[in-house]
Amino acid sequence: MRVIFHEDFHQSFYSEDAFDNGAAEGRLVNLMAALRHDGRYDVDIPAPATRADLLRAHTEAHIAAIEAKPRLFAMASLAAGAAILASDLALQGEPSFACLRPPGHHASRAQAWGHCTFSNLAIALLRLRAAGQIHSAFVVDFDLHTGDGTKDVLRGWPEAEVFNTYGDSAAELIQNLEVRLKQAPQVDLLAVSAGFDAYIHDLGGKLATDDYFTIGRLLQGYAIRLGHQRRFAVLEGGYYLPDLGKNALAFCRGFE
Ligand SMILES: [Zn+2]
Repeated sequence: MRVIFHEDFHQSFYSEDAFDNGAAEGRLVNLMAALRHDGRYDVDIPAPATRADLLRAHTEAHIAAIEAKPRLFAMASLAAGAAILASDLALQGEPSFACLRPPGHHASRAQAWGHCTFSNLAIALLRLRAAGQIHSAFVVDFDLHTGDGTKDVLRGWPEAEVFNTYGDSAAELIQNLEVRLKQAPQVDLLAVSAGFDAYIHDLGGKLATDDYFTIGRLLQGYAIRLGHQRRFAVLEGGYYLPDLGKNALAFCRGFE
């Protein structure tokens, strides 16, 4: 299993929104320290997504609106590039986790909200599809919030299904995920929106660190049942910084 990260993701000044929790200073420090300290995961450095990559997912107008903010555009293009590299590695049989920001699952074709800019995960999937490398994908989003942007970007692709986890408690959410994965289709690739804001000390107040291991392991099991084992994940939300590292690490241990 590989981790995708670029040192530029530590820069917190890319967002002009003072209330952008995703861009909080030092947000990924604890996370990357936990993954690096673990010592099991090699870190790969991504390159920015190209304009052609972005255009498969977004309107010219949305891209132009982001380009008008050069720092945000550079960071968001790099985030999409991180998802692309993760998906390439997955296709080669190497599970991967892209530790990036800004996140992407609230970025639709024509606009974005909720700390998101470009639809990182969907951009990666559409690129593989355009290259004829995949025909189908299953997306699991376990962020506290629904991945409305991902759904919007992928809506013209019937073989790409998006499942958002749900449940009033951790046990219920995990059971619902287990049931859904048992009935999930045979696809060419599993893509995961990994958000950690449903954590007990975060906005959702629901999931414990061990639950992230369980979620990762259920997803790994599904990928194994697919036969090819291809899977990658990208970071979405997660704002309780003291425990973001151990939660992401727990997920990776399950997912690896
Ligand atoms: Zn969220």
